[in-house]
Amino acid sequence: MNILVIINHYVQILIVKNRIAYSFYLLISLKKMPKSYKIDIGENMKKTIRDFDLNNKKVIIRVDYNVPIKDGIILDDSRIVKSLDTLKYAVDNNAKVILMSHLGRIKTEEDKKNNSLQIVASRLSKLLNRDVIFVPSTRGDELECTINNLNPGDILLMENTRYEDLDGKKESSNDEELGKYWASLGDIFINDAFGTCHRAHASNVGIASNIESGIGFLVEKELKELSILDNPVRPFAVILGGAKVHDKINLIENLVNIADYILIGGGMAYTFLASSGLNIGKSILDEESIDFCKRILEENKDKIILPIDSVNENNGNIKEVFVSDINENDVGLDIGHSTIKLFKQYLNESKTIMWNGPVGYTEREEFTNGTKELCEALKNIEATKIIGGGDTASIVINLGYEKYMTHISTGGGASLEYLEGKTLPGIDIIGDK
Ligand code: ADP
Ligand code: MG
Repeated sequence: MNILVIINHYVQILIVKNRIAYSFYLLISLKKMPKSYKIDIGENMKKTIRDFDLNNKKVIIRVDYNVPIKDGIILDDSRIVKSLDTLKYAVDNNAKVILMSHLGRIKTEEDKKNNSLQIVASRLSKLLNRDVIFVPSTRGDELECTINNLNPGDILLMENTRYEDLDGKKESSNDEELGKYWASLGDIFINDAFGTCHRAHASNVGIASNIESGIGFLVEKELKELSILDNPVRPFAVILGGAKVHDKINLIENLVNIADYILIGGGMAYTFLASSGLNIGKSILDEESIDFCKRILEENKDKIILPIDSVNENNGNIKEVFVSDINENDVGLDIGHSTIKLFKQYLNESKTIMWNGPVGYTEREEFTNGTKELCEALKNIEATKIIGGGDTASIVINLGYEKYMTHISTGGGASLEYLEGKTLPGIDIIGDK
């Protein structure tokens, strides 16, 4: 072996050992954190439903009724429940309410059958304890006639907006004619579907381009809570997990600029560990992101905190080891106890905490401990605690910790794109105050 390769090899080992030693030092010595300070949060400047006179007006409300359905049964109606405040406000203010939503993806006639919103109309009717008129089409005489016959306070739900996708993806590609047509059905447009705000579709950007528009209570709350992260009370810690680094490159690039600490767990931690020269066995590796991880670690030495131990599975046996002792055939599937302890120290000192990505393979209970322990830690910490990302939101709710969080974002992709610092087209198009 070339002497330079050997030297390089030992230098790498030294760097890794130093990093691990440093993490242990933090664990033992409870590193001093910066003192917290407070910054005011900027007011949201978009028009809201409160800024309009709704009396006798046809108000199109874009809601997110993309609920999970199996064998004709709604498995979780929380998205419908979360829309009720805006609906009740509109009804109380004598609006003629026209609801629009997508449900699933529509590529074939068969998809249409499986993704009708009729079942959602029935659930909504039950939740509100009043009639909801369902129109089984997305355009045409029946829809127009029913809308024209609405009385103030009536609620109508139109069929799945994505039925229009069978005809050249008109909804999802924000077809100009379709946006204009839907806008012609109402007087005012209210966007209350945060989950689709990162996409320009006919049923959000299309309609808002043609009539007066505002946001509903649900989107208003999302923006209010997520914008706390633009000017966080410090220290601001981020827990970042999930499977792949690749999906979160833009997020990490943005977070290193705004967070004080980024605690990395989950599958993505193993690519970070591998990029600093550790053997990660058969743990999930995102090879194309290794150079990115190296650079980010190098540029943010004190900011990025990696796991110091890992719960691994090897031929059906589960064992917890330090990250320097991962074996060839080990698959790392959760953070270990020392990492949990280390992460808790940072979290305990933080005044703002954002969490995206489970820190273990939570599809299996054996690897849910790290995620659960962090939930438990957050429960007892007085800080602004914001959860973003579809899987993270589900697991925090399923484990029973929803009530201890300041905010759990309803929009998986939308909340991530917001946190990446991107403009959300569905919000951008809404009129300013
Ligand atoms: P979110 O939807 O909240 O943004 P992600 O989709 O990024 O979260 O991450 C969730 C996925 O990450 C889950 O399917 C989980 O099993 C996976 N994951 C977490 N830790 C690991 C791991 N160690 N190995 C493989 N997958 C993991
Ligand atoms: Mg996900």
